[in-house]
Amino acid sequence: MNASAVISTDNTIRDSGDQSSAAFGHVLAPGVDISHKAILYLDDITVSFDGFKALNKLTLTIDAGELRCIIGPNGAGKTTLMDVITGKTRPDSGSAFFGQTIDLSRYTEAEIAHAGIGRKFQKPTVFESHSAFENLELAMKTDKRARASLLARLTAGERDRIGETLQLIELEAVAGRPAGLLSHGQKQWLEIGMLLMQEPQLLLLDEPVAGMTDAETERTAELFKTLAGTHSLIVVEHDMDFVTRIAKKITVLHEGSVLAEGSMEEVQADPRVVEVYLGR
Ligand code: ADP
Ligand code: MG
Repeated sequence: MNASAVISTDNTIRDSGDQSSAAFGHVLAPGVDISHKAILYLDDITVSFDGFKALNKLTLTIDAGELRCIIGPNGAGKTTLMDVITGKTRPDSGSAFFGQTIDLSRYTEAEIAHAGIGRKFQKPTVFESHSAFENLELAMKTDKRARASLLARLTAGERDRIGETLQLIELEAVAGRPAGLLSHGQKQWLEIGMLLMQEPQLLLLDEPVAGMTDAETERTAELFKTLAGTHSLIVVEHDMDFVTRIAKKITVLHEGSVLAEGSMEEVQADPRVVEVYLGR
């Protein structure tokens, strides 16, 4: 399949052509139908590993532009949930839709990424010997020929997009520095920037502030609040100060199911949540 193919609303794969000039931070993905407000629907999802249910009839809806925090004890199924959304793990039952029409069960991991779901893993995977600028350039969604070489000339539009992203992730001042010399937090931001270069609609972030300093954590909170609205975000995080700072709506997972959902005040006041997670 062509590397720049995307899934369109009628569930067919089509060649998107050169999208490198597409606007940065758009709300509406060409191809993702969010006409009913939601960008992600998980319905009655069960994932079993040798009979053990890592996800157990999980139902979850994320609205377009939402910043959703997911919390829960270790083993609750948070990472498995992200694996299902990105196509890494296939559910035994239930359905997962991206927007109204894209049935995620029908696509490969690579196709799902191209359709607009970006995932950041815990460990940064930047190219250490390349500069921050070059890392963003390498991540940019251009055709394969252009991506094959950093020597390929950037268009003014591409240069602008990289510049805007550097500004957003606050790495302008160190744009020329090899990524290996950046702080842990800066590497994490760079990787978020690399994800953004691929123009995802939905971003999945697994423990994004783990290992960050307090100042870096605070700046990450600001970044996520900036991204919400133009992007939809699902953030798994144990750092409750961070969650408190960014969350509007929180989903508490426990034993593979949704235990509670609501504002921070609501979930904090829920005795079941206190018992399985917050009270520990
Ligand atoms: P969390 O991210 O909330 O800590 P996970 O989704 O990683 O939880 O795991 C949920 C449960 O599923 C855990 O009990 C874990 O041991 C189990 N699990 C996850 N992945 C696998 C796998 N590939 N094989 C077997 N068990 C798994
Ligand atoms: Mg996990």
